[in-house]
Amino acid sequence: MKGVVVKSTGSWYLVRDAEGKLHRARLRGKFKLKGMKVSNPLAVGDRVEFDVETTGEDTAVIHKIEDRENYIIRKSTHKAEHAHIIAANLDQALLIATLVSPRTSFGFVDRFLVTAEAYGIPTVIVYNKTDLYDEDMQEYQRQIKYLYERIGYKTMGVSAHSNQGIDELRELLHGKTTLFSGHSGVGKSTLINLIVPDLDLKTSEISGFSDKGVHTTTFAEMFEIDSETFIIDTPGIKELGIVDIPKKELGHFFPEMRERLNQCRFNDCTHFNEPGCAIIDAVRKNEIALTRYESYLSMLHGEDNRK
Ligand code: GDP
Ligand code: ZN
Repeated sequence: MKGVVVKSTGSWYLVRDAEGKLHRARLRGKFKLKGMKVSNPLAVGDRVEFDVETTGEDTAVIHKIEDRENYIIRKSTHKAEHAHIIAANLDQALLIATLVSPRTSFGFVDRFLVTAEAYGIPTVIVYNKTDLYDEDMQEYQRQIKYLYERIGYKTMGVSAHSNQGIDELRELLHGKTTLFSGHSGVGKSTLINLIVPDLDLKTSEISGFSDKGVHTTTFAEMFEIDSETFIIDTPGIKELGIVDIPKKELGHFFPEMRERLNQCRFNDCTHFNEPGCAIIDAVRKNEIALTRYESYLSMLHGEDNRK
């Protein structure tokens, strides 16, 4: 039988078959990822082949993992040199952000976008909590939308409290497998609860309390909206694993820089202080947003702009 992994605990898996039936499954055999040490052979979103057995606790045995279209990783919390696969076969990512309580920085947004570019995963930026934005903030949000849409990232405003933009969000998700990501407190769980029928995810007031002092490895989980629409939640994962990007290639992951790179005088230009740099020139002319260039520089110089 064929199915998709919807939950993983590290020792057993929940696999959804084509009819939507869930099977508790184990993995048989050794599975390796080319060129990388991984701490988990199988992740949410993986398409697998399995056999159903009639005896024992775990009713299914996975014997084959299909090639992944894409996947995202982070460093393993157990083994330093290992990577942990967070999820596989994603159609798109939603970066949930907000202008208030707590405000998401441009540095965080841009870092996420660069990583998603490196993984080849299209990203939509979703500003939540619009019910809390006053007129100035609404204007600011329009400017941010312009800033990101100009370079190819769809950006939308929603409110889980007033329902603004929720229908559009549903449409965006339809027929796809979407990764939900964002800082804790931006409203991820509230939005997922709103969108996924019959789900009761704890929001942060509750989970923040019960998680205190408990060290658990958090795993991503896939939720079904309908038979062709899925959401992958990544509780406790603040950002995607940063892919190691050589400094001179960083510009390739900023779409507005990518298209200008061949105009720099030097082909190993890092766009920092080199003469004849087309990127610096474009920033001066306001063709590249200063905030984006600042994010670029802080990534170039390895500063921690996660906050
Ligand atoms: P998560 O950590 O990203 O999963 O965030 P939660 O879903 O737990 O939400 C954090 C807090 O933000 C909770 O107090 C929610 O009630 C609140 N919240 C979520 N969405 C909205 C919204 O659209 N508007 C307002 N005003 N508050 C929201
Ligand atoms: Zn340059």
